[in-house]
Order: sequence, then structure tokens, then C-alpha cells
Amino acid sequence: MEKENVLISACLLSNKCRYDGKIINNELKDLLKFFNLIPFCPEVSGGLPIPRDPSEIIGEKVVSLKNKDVTKNFNSGAFLAESICKEKNIHLAILKEESPSCGVYKIYDGTFSNKLIDGKGITTSRLIKAGIKVINEIEAKELLVQKENEKDNN
Ligand code: SF4
Repeated sequence: MEKENVLISACLLSNKCRYDGKIINNELKDLLKFFNLIPFCPEVSGGLPIPRDPSEIIGEKVVSLKNKDVTKNFNSGAFLAESICKEKNIHLAILKEESPSCGVYKIYDGTFSNKLIDGKGITTSRLIKAGIKVINEIEAKELLVQKENEKDNN
């Protein structure tokens, strides 16, 4: 049977696309056994460089630490993420928690003081509005365990 396409924050598959240029350990690669993972970074696709200044959501805008308005880049990345989901018939996205693009339940509060609040990233909000289920990396690990168990029981 053909595997389901799933969008995933590219940094979660160890792509070097984070604002700080760091690479995250690839703990979710085993999901490739069950899904066709499509890595995507909305900020880089929206035209921002690697590395880049960190940004936070402030009201309706996204602003960098150096006070540059990067709202257009973030919106463009979110638009492209939705376009890929439509094109590839994607109904599930695994996005990186706490990012101003990809945060699922938590984002930083807009004061650049390392304080998290309840909220969603720009891409996450757009995908949810489009009817796509969005989970974070912790939920993705739970999904992996569930899939492994299902496999063992078959
Ligand atoms: S925008 Fe999303 S995919 Fe890109 S580095 Fe940030 S969390 Fe990862």
C-alpha cells in the first residue's frame, strides 16, 4: 500500500534550516517506515537566510530581534506550506514546537525574553484553518510508538 504523505518541519529531519544554523538530532526518522515524510521549512521557503535573527510574533506581525518586520516572509512560507499540502494531498503535518512558524501549542511571547505562552505559529495556524491536522514532535514520537505496536500485533 502506498504510504501517506506527511509534511514535517525540515529541521526535525536534521536539515540545517534553523535560525541559529544548528542541527537537531533526527529522532523521527523511523517514521519514514510508515509515512512518506515531506520536509519543509516555511521560513527558508519564505525567503529568510540561514542563520537568521530570531523572530517572534507580536500582535498581527512577526518581528526579528533587530526589529525588522518579517511578516511577509512568514506569511509567504505559510502559503507555500498550504500549497504543498494541497498539491500532495497531505492531511497531517508534524511541526516543531515553540517556533513562530511551526509552534503547535507554544510560542514565545513577543518580548524576546525566553517566555513561552499558549499560541500557534503562522504556518501552523494556516494549515489548521485549511483542515490539516497538526501535531508537534512529542506527539509524533507517540504516533511512532503506536505504529510500531500496530506492526508488532499484525
Ligand atoms: S521554520 Fe519550522 S522548519 Fe524551519 S527551522 Fe523553524 S521550526 Fe524548523
